[in-house]
Amino acid sequence: HDATALPLLRGLNPEQLAAVTQPAEPALILAGAGSGKTRVLTTRIAWLIQTGQVSPGGILAVTFTNKAAKEMLTRLGTLLPINLRGMWVGTFHGLSNRFLRAHWKLAGLPQAFQILDATDSVSAVKRVVKALGIPEERCPPKPASWAIANAKEAGLRPGQLPIHDELSRWHAEIYAAYEDQCAREGVVDFAELLLRTVELLEREPALRTHYQQRFRHVLVDEFQDTNTLQYRWLQCFAPPPARGEAPGQGVFAVGDDDQSIYAFRGAQVANMADFEQLYRVRQVVKLERNYRSHGNILDAANHLIANNSRRLGKNLRTEAGAGEPVRVQESATDFAEAQWLVDEARQLHREGSPRKEIAVLYRSNAQSRVVESALFNAGLPYKVYGGLRFFERAEVKHALAYLRLIENPDDDTSFLRVVNFPARGIGARTLEQLVDAARASGRSLHQAIDAVPGKGGASLGAFRKLVEGLREATAGLTLREIIEHVVEASGLADHYRAEKEGEERLENLGELVNAAEAFVTQEGFGKDAIALPVDELGPAAAGSAPIAPGTLAAPRSADEPLAVAPAAPGPLTPDAETGEIISPLAAFLSHASLEAGDNQAQAGEDAIQLMTVHAAKGLEFDQVFITGLEEGLFPHENAMSDSDGLEEERRLMYVAITRARKRLYLSFSQSRMLHGQVRYHVKSRFLDELPEGALKWLSPRQAGFGHGSPYGSGGAGHWRGDSGRSGGDSGRREREPGASWGHRASEAPATPPSWLGAAQAQAAAASTGA
Ligand code: ATP
Ligand code: MG
Repeated sequence: HDATALPLLRGLNPEQLAAVTQPAEPALILAGAGSGKTRVLTTRIAWLIQTGQVSPGGILAVTFTNKAAKEMLTRLGTLLPINLRGMWVGTFHGLSNRFLRAHWKLAGLPQAFQILDATDSVSAVKRVVKALGIPEERCPPKPASWAIANAKEAGLRPGQLPIHDELSRWHAEIYAAYEDQCAREGVVDFAELLLRTVELLEREPALRTHYQQRFRHVLVDEFQDTNTLQYRWLQCFAPPPARGEAPGQGVFAVGDDDQSIYAFRGAQVANMADFEQLYRVRQVVKLERNYRSHGNILDAANHLIANNSRRLGKNLRTEAGAGEPVRVQESATDFAEAQWLVDEARQLHREGSPRKEIAVLYRSNAQSRVVESALFNAGLPYKVYGGLRFFERAEVKHALAYLRLIENPDDDTSFLRVVNFPARGIGARTLEQLVDAARASGRSLHQAIDAVPGKGGASLGAFRKLVEGLREATAGLTLREIIEHVVEASGLADHYRAEKEGEERLENLGELVNAAEAFVTQEGFGKDAIALPVDELGPAAAGSAPIAPGTLAAPRSADEPLAVAPAAPGPLTPDAETGEIISPLAAFLSHASLEAGDNQAQAGEDAIQLMTVHAAKGLEFDQVFITGLEEGLFPHENAMSDSDGLEEERRLMYVAITRARKRLYLSFSQSRMLHGQVRYHVKSRFLDELPEGALKWLSPRQAGFGHGSPYGSGGAGHWRGDSGRSGGDSGRREREPGASWGHRASEAPATPPSWLGAAQAQAAAASTGA
């Protein structure tokens, strides 16, 4: 039979078909936006499985966001009506977590290790800085935590950091003490997940061989955004073929150099060229037909990106016809811009567009607030991605902290978060005593409680009792019951009931229960302890035979046990003996740390989509608004001084434009309130780089600056108040660790108004009820 004539291949163009049905060898697909890269990658997985070339367990596919990973699984689910659980599809961090859960012991981790998200990690660093007596003003914790993440992403451990001045010496000291602290508390941060995985695989050849033989096909989407550590990670699972040898695995990398937007966080476009060389790719596949966007939109994108000098070079064409012109709108103020946007969006919805097909993109999170309040006032449901994530809300973090303490009482970060929340009379002095005692004896806070004398010690003892009580009372309960019990018995529920604005917080705690419920259903975790996906270790995982180096045979199917030759216990006795069972609670807690704000709107609710351009990578919408197209904002002021920075901003703009299928709006405003400052902007240079013929100006062209602005006129075309440049924004383009699954722009998230959640819920209820 002809394996290229299967129904799932129908509709692919010849280049796509060739890419999908390539032989199992290293392949690089280099193609522009909307050319079907992700579709080709997904279809290839389906095709490989359907033609029996590989079982789901033999697939490893990495994407950049949780959202993308989920989408891929959904698409595969519709293409293939089979159980896909053995397949590894996820983000670098998610898959590293999965790997380390299976090999925690070998990796030197406690079985119930917990994951610190970016904020947890900063507060952990802060404690270290304090403990070391380093002056916080001169060595602030946030940059220190970035330095640690950078070091880890470069593969460096504390002793290996270059020291050239006082600050770098402090950073090295902090890094070392931070590592000790994490080890003591049984926690890992995001970068650690990857580095541990890489170090373990590089150290243990048998383990490496095992995974390399298991994963017959390794696939990576958005390859242009991999950083050094991720590339190294990839090489552990799929090493480049040795000279003169046939490639052992299919390695399938897809990417677009024009969409590389994480260079500021260490991503290396050069990895693409390196991959081609190192893996001896025989022919780089190019896809040149764009299936996403109408002609005018694509013209705009092509024109814009032609202004970049460092490109690998490819073309994009469409057969969709010119379509509508790209609409350009100028407003006097950000409020006027938001109002215009709301009117336009409402009109689109009236004309039949689903709200979820309308996206509002912006360069920086701080821009979303004005749009949010306009949408809210208009009663239009919307969903914000990558703002304050659900799992980052204070009340949710408090509840999670209690849950973590049940799992691991030595988790000092969680301990400190809730030891006196709700207030139980444990003062700062008592805590200081406790911290000192713990430090002096090298124990966790929980273990050091008895060292605190007097009344303070008694209150701490009561807290310990509380946590122990929670653990006992929740043993054997379902995840839902556990969370409900903890929220009540910890006193959190009563605390928020008594609080004036506590209602919304209570709702969010209810939402946490829903999130847990959804997690249980999605992951198929029942009431009983679940087996983690160490199925691949076969009988060895069941605890009978240890794995000795060189004795593994390739798995032929996901469910089929590995052939393991009986051997003397070697260094590779799998942790799975004791490690394959973790509680649904532990699984849910890692999920909570890894998951970005996917829970902000009810699933399936038809809502307008708000996100940064970074977060929009890989997605598509019928209608797209790109707002704030102003010099200093987009391109971002911190990137305007050097050509590398500017080219990255332009790639970002290219990503933004190419998200649109049918209609694209570009908008800018003469003045804008940002970070408490009114700023006066000129329109973005990117607007001038677009083909005039593809544009249609909605507002009168080039209206005078300063007119009709409620902010008054002053310094038209200039920044007003230079302090806005330094302030809280300085260093914004420094790498923010752990943001790759948080979809953050390189800026701190705007804090939504406190009334938003409840009000949004009301608006949603009103609109569905009507
Ligand atoms: P990006 O660079 O933005 O990630 P991409 O190259 O991954 O884009 P896809 O998202 O895979 O592109 O595809 C873009 C759109 O085009 C999708 O809606 C996809 O279903 C559609 N598409 C791709 N190939 C074809 C085809 N041969 N026939 C019809 N539609 C196609
Ligand atoms: Mg894609």
